[in-house]
Amino acid sequence: MHAMMDRVFNFSPGPAVLPLQVLEQARDEMLSLPSVGMSVLEISHRSPAFDTILEETLQRLRGLLGIGDSHEIVFVQGGASLQFSMVPMNLLRGQAAAADYIITGTWGATGAKEARREGKVHVAWDGAATNHDRLPSDREAFLSDTPAYVHITSNETIQGVQWKHDPDVGPAPLVCDCSSDFLSRPIDVSRYGLVYACAQKNAGVAGVTAVIIRKDLLERSRDDLPTMLDYRTFVKNGSRPNTPPVFAIYILGLVCRWIADHMGGLAGMARHNAAKAKLLYDVLDHSGGFYTGHARPECRSDMNVTFRLPDEAAEKAFLSGATKSGLMDLKGHRSVGGIRASIYNAMPVAGVEALRDFMIDFQRQD
Ligand SMILES: *Cc1c(COP(=O)(O)O)cnc(C)c1O
Repeated sequence: MHAMMDRVFNFSPGPAVLPLQVLEQARDEMLSLPSVGMSVLEISHRSPAFDTILEETLQRLRGLLGIGDSHEIVFVQGGASLQFSMVPMNLLRGQAAAADYIITGTWGATGAKEARREGKVHVAWDGAATNHDRLPSDREAFLSDTPAYVHITSNETIQGVQWKHDPDVGPAPLVCDCSSDFLSRPIDVSRYGLVYACAQKNAGVAGVTAVIIRKDLLERSRDDLPTMLDYRTFVKNGSRPNTPPVFAIYILGLVCRWIADHMGGLAGMARHNAAKAKLLYDVLDHSGGFYTGHARPECRSDMNVTFRLPDEAAEKAFLSGATKSGLMDLKGHRSVGGIRASIYNAMPVAGVEALRDFMIDFQRQD
């Protein structure tokens, strides 16, 4: 059987392409985990077999990201969207200070909207005026006095705008939605108060969200929080206050192993991702204006490459031609229009090369 031959190149923004080795291992172990005799979908979340899966996944994440004793990692359900609420519930509720949001795209704006339900929000910068095509310079973002925290989105998935350095926010805890570039490059977690990421872009399947939180910040959570929305519940119970998303945690563990063993860790992963993105940005830059990138060059994302064609008719023809060539899910989000190529960790170079060749041919034929 050659299942490979039916596989197309999947440029979906998420859920997204997974590493073939991970899918193969999950398939091989689907009916019976080695030496367990049951599927991971069937075992108790309190069984020794799942103890091992959970512990290994946490250890692999710690290893890849170089996380020391200062931070806890917990796995939560509800996606990154629930973190838009849990972050301010735990870190802002009852505080006199404001939470500062640097809004570089749709997801950051959504996070700020939810935070307003819990306390004061100060928008330190908002790129809406130019439809979120860039990041602020260090002098443009005005923080409030002693903010409760400063929130950024490391990669805006819809606009294709990615931070290239950690902003300097002084002593305030820096909180980052890393959902769409988690495990795609190294980050210095010690500089962050809290990092959260759903798994289904770069790191696995929907159902699990990793939250990495500096231990001292746990003291801010108030006792009137619902139990399941209090980070302390997840820390105290080792991410198992109730039934965790066992399959999603298992896949996250396999992806971590794939990055460590096959991709050269996060440094290797970052080089691989930057090289892929360059293939596409080079086409934009050499197209004589036929393809125009949405993000300004200095903030271009290595994960989501967003661009327009001369008109909507050309974009429609592009998308249908791409689909016929096995290049799937390239339609941009309606708020940006045009094309979005999501080229996360698991997108092979061959897929990006196929898209590059298609782009060059399409322009030639136009
Ligand atoms: C996908 C995404 C989200 C939303 O994730 P859900 O798990 O669907 O809630 C939030 N932030 C960013 C940056 C994303 O890419």
